[in-house]
Parts: sequence; C-alpha cells; structure tokens
Amino acid sequence: MKAPKGTYDVLPDQQAARDRVASAAKRVLEGAGYRRIETPTFEATELFARGVGASTDIVQKEMYTFDDGGGRSITLRPEGTAPVCRAYLEHGMHKLPQPVKLWYLSSFYRKEKPQAGRYRQFWQVGAEAIGSDDPAVDAESIVLLQTLLDELGVEDVRLRISSLGSPESRVRYRERLTAYLRAHEGELSKEVRDRIDLNPLRAFDSDHPGTKAVMRDAPRLLDALDADDAEHFREVRELLDRAEVAYEVDTTLVRGLDYYTRTVFEFTSDRLGAQSGVGGGGRYDGLIEQLGGKPTPGTGWAAGIERMLLAAGDERTAEPPVDLYVAFDGVEQRAAAFGVSLDARRAGMTAQMELAGRSLKGQRKHADRIGARWLAVVRADGATLRDMQTGEEVDVPPEGIVARALREGGRG
Ligand code: AMP
Repeated sequence: MKAPKGTYDVLPDQQAARDRVASAAKRVLEGAGYRRIETPTFEATELFARGVGASTDIVQKEMYTFDDGGGRSITLRPEGTAPVCRAYLEHGMHKLPQPVKLWYLSSFYRKEKPQAGRYRQFWQVGAEAIGSDDPAVDAESIVLLQTLLDELGVEDVRLRISSLGSPESRVRYRERLTAYLRAHEGELSKEVRDRIDLNPLRAFDSDHPGTKAVMRDAPRLLDALDADDAEHFREVRELLDRAEVAYEVDTTLVRGLDYYTRTVFEFTSDRLGAQSGVGGGGRYDGLIEQLGGKPTPGTGWAAGIERMLLAAGDERTAEPPVDLYVAFDGVEQRAAAFGVSLDARRAGMTAQMELAGRSLKGQRKHADRIGARWLAVVRADGATLRDMQTGEEVDVPPEGIVARALREGGRG
C-alpha cells in the first residue's frame, strides 16, 4: 500500500527541518504581536464558496467536498484565510483591540495535479491581521514574510507587488480591457480570443507573439485605480522602501482567490521549477463582510512549507543526540538498566537502553553507532561508565551512574 497520490509522509529525518520552520515562524510572528490560532481541518463548504469565491479554480475543481452523513456539505480546508475570518467573527474578536493579528501552521488540501512542489495535502504558515486598513499593516506583513524566508535560508527570492484596487474599479477596468482586446481581436491567439469575456486578464500571461505585442500597450489595472487606492499603494511602497525591501511592481500580478483588494504580493524563488511561488497574500477588505460581518479590512499571507524547504535546500538531519546508552550483561540485569535509563531522563539527560537483545559486544557497537556520549554497562556485580570520547572507563554502582555522568560533563 502507498500513501494517496499527491500526499507524502514526513519521516523522522525530515522532522527537524519542519521544527525549524515552526520555531522561526513563531519567533518572527510573535515578535510582531501575532498569536497562534488553529481552526478545524474541515469547514462548512459554504465558507469557501462565499469566502474564496465560487468562480475560482479552488472552489470550481480543487476542493475535497463530501457529505458528513447528516446531509451537511463539508470541505477539507483548501486555504486558511476564510477559516481565520470565520473564527474572528464567531468569537467576537472585533471587540478586541484592532487589528487582531493571528498566525497558523496547518495542513491544507487541494485536488491539484501533483508535481514537484505541488501536493494534495500540503502545509502552510500563514499570518492574518484583521481590523485595520493602514498601509503599515500591508508593509509590515510583507516584511514579516521576507524575514521568515531570510531566517529559513530560502534562496534567490524575488518579491512582486501590485494593487488590485477596489472591486468597483476592477469592474470598470475589466470593461476597458475587454473593449481593448475586442478592438485588437485579429492579432490575438485563438485561446485568448475565446476567453476575452471569461478572463481577459489571462491575456497578459500569453506567450503568443501577436498577443504579446497587443498586451504591451494594453491598459493596466494600476493606472485605473481610484485616488484613495492609488495613495494607499504609494504609502505601502514608501514603507517597503524605508525597510529596504527589494520588490518589483508587477501590473499583471493576479492571485487565484477572489477576495483580494488593494495590495497583493508574491514571493518566488528561482531555486524552484515551474511551481516557483513560495508565499503570497494581500489585502482582503471585503471578505469579513462577505462572511456576514460588518465591513472590516484585513491583510494576510500564506507560505508553503514544502516550497520553503525546497528553496532553502532542505537538508536531512542526524538522529537526536544520546547522552547515555544503558547496556546490560544478561537478562537478569534488565530491570536495573531500565531504572538507570529512567533516572537519567528524570535528570534531564537523553537516554536509551538496550531493547534488541544484542550481545554485550553488539551493545557496545550500537552505542558507538548512535553516537552516545556515555555508555553504562550494568552487570551482576556493579556497573561501569565509559566516556565514549576518551575511552576512559570507571567502575560505579548502578545508582551512581547518572550522577557521575552529569558531574563529568555533557555532550562534548
Ligand atoms: P495560495 O494559498 O494559493 O496563495 O498559496 C500560498 C502558498 O502555498 C504558495 O506560494 C505555495 O508555497 C503554497 N502552496 C499552494 N498550493 C500548494 C500545493 N498544492 N502544494 C504545495 N504548496 C502549495
């Protein structure tokens, strides 16, 4: 039997790298006042239909949706923002000082075509700041993700930012772009022509030479922003400049979720192949209202753990250090050895005892292989303690082993 397509096991050797991500995320985000939240693995399907947007790829074809047996439609969470906003509303967090800053580290589920860096169950670190439309929230949130990527050693990172403005200016812009594309229909690829009404923005991604030439002069969303939105974006950029964050304004940046307004951003790494996105997010000022709350602004991002580790050169780690290995000579000594290993752990050492019935010679070899700092051998007439670094061996009663090892010093 194998794990389902697009899923994977996190093996013991890979755990240390994950722990590193979790502790870096905690340090960076809690250092800025974010507090951790965990929401359920599944939610009412309605949350994502309303929150992520019924016309998005995620909702249209990527969700694991099922009946819970009681006639309720349930979906494995495909993303974290809508659940966090649901929790904000459900727990009346609007009564707390705003913005409420929350972070999470959870697994997410999307029925995508598996490939390198793209899975059906994957993990994200995410951060959401709900309740403020201050451009400093946007800039701070971008700087925090940049800091996390730096701390994790994610290499060859690039940041692209843009502003999507408001839903109203977007509708007006879409009409202008559609009219522009219609006026140049003859020069466009068939694929783009067929999708003019469905998704005119996709024309910016086309590799077709004729389409590319047309798109060079196409109207840009950034030029169509309302004065307030344009000013907000200017302030975000000014703060990023002040923080000396390098970025590129990319007027074609669109993200796959409907809820974004104003600032959007994406970090990519040239270390990764086709799936180069390591993390991204933006502002979602309409989402809370969409979920039934009062109009409440919000900003957030999510970064993929697998992609961050891939782009950081995910090195496998050795087994955990062993302070003391407790060997014994003959099964009659097993209980005494067991007691020594318990005492050692109680005293704060890492300790393992022989559990595989090896010969005494085999036990010595094993202690060496796992890199134990001390080897105790419990015998009928006492015990010895061996310093595995110097090879020095002393006689000690079994009950004196732990104290002696502690006195002589820890892991060199
Ligand atoms: P999104 O929620 O689509 O904006 O994704 C945010 C980040 O999550 C991306 O930049 C990726 O790092 C990661 N991610 C998204 N989808 C997947 C997936 N199917 N497998 C692995 N990582 C993913």
